Amino acid sequence: MTILGIETSCDETSAAVVLNGRTILSNVVSSSVDFHKKTGGIVPEVAARKQVESIIPVLDECLSLAKTTLKKIDAIAVTAGPGLLGSLIVGTATAKTLALSLNKPLIPVNHLLAHIYANWLEENIPDFPLISLIVSGGHTQLILMKNHKDIKILGETRDDAAGESFDKVARILNLGYPGGPAIEKKALDFKSKETSLVLPKPLIHSKDYDFSFSGLKTAAFTAFKTKKHTACEIAHSFQEAVCEVLVKKTVKAVLENKVNSVVLAGGVSANKRLRELFFKNEQLEKMKIKVYIPKIALCTDNAASIASCAFYHRNITQLEQVLPNSSLFFEN
Ligand code: AMP
Ligand code: MG
Repeated sequence: MTILGIETSCDETSAAVVLNGRTILSNVVSSSVDFHKKTGGIVPEVAARKQVESIIPVLDECLSLAKTTLKKIDAIAVTAGPGLLGSLIVGTATAKTLALSLNKPLIPVNHLLAHIYANWLEENIPDFPLISLIVSGGHTQLILMKNHKDIKILGETRDDAAGESFDKVARILNLGYPGGPAIEKKALDFKSKETSLVLPKPLIHSKDYDFSFSGLKTAAFTAFKTKKHTACEIAHSFQEAVCEVLVKKTVKAVLENKVNSVVLAGGVSANKRLRELFFKNEQLEKMKIKVYIPKIALCTDNAASIASCAFYHRNITQLEQVLPNSSLFFEN
């Protein structure tokens, strides 16, 4: 089954052709991130207008790289949410128009679930049951997946998402946007093993699986204002605090649920320190839990993950359960 995926939830315009949920025939991603650097963050109206400009060229390129045509595609999958409304509308309107005019099935996809499916585009795929940590610019969630359809959210952030906190702390330190890669780079400049800067690790010992990053962001801001710490020291301590909380809560979920794999997903899983802490985690190794993290290009928003997710969730009735907001598709 060949699925054309379309992703326009934020500042990336992406289209991909994926065979049987596993093999990428093409995956074109065009980002408007450079326009958002000027404003230090995404202006939704600007992102939506860039989506309009990019969607047709991206679609054309994706079909040509996959050496296929719209007629040969079996189904069309599109991000239905969550995301920025103006950006989402560009992708959903395009997908609906294609599906209607070509008489092909249309599969709405939950963007967060799709992040997890980046792991199905790799050579080795995770074993169920699994714990998935989704860490993106807008969301932070711990998920228990017993199989493709049995999905339970164990916990999520009570305030800022992990990626959002990277972006905001980078702004405090004048490192620009997007903040995640900038903080990661700056933290590498901190060579000393010692630091007097101790930032809080919020909810690290709480009994639930929730996260909170807004207090940590404020603590980083307070440290910056004292002028006692360098930017690289704050970046280092902040990154360590976020990563430690993410790892600790994920390991707790593994200890309390019988699972075979840990799966990371979303933009923050591109962070090399986080990847290292997961890949070299002694507790997970001892329990023989395998860790899966997609290659960096598949961590951030891309349509190949949308097409893969659609392949495994193409039964619309079940999709309704994971996508309560599907009226976007079914009301007409
Ligand atoms: P997404 O929402 O999944 O598209 O991911 C975007 C988010 O991931 C933004 O908040 C970025 O700052 C963050 N991000 C991207 N690369 C990294 C990185 N290397 N380290 C930490 N965060 C990152
Ligand atoms: Mg995303």
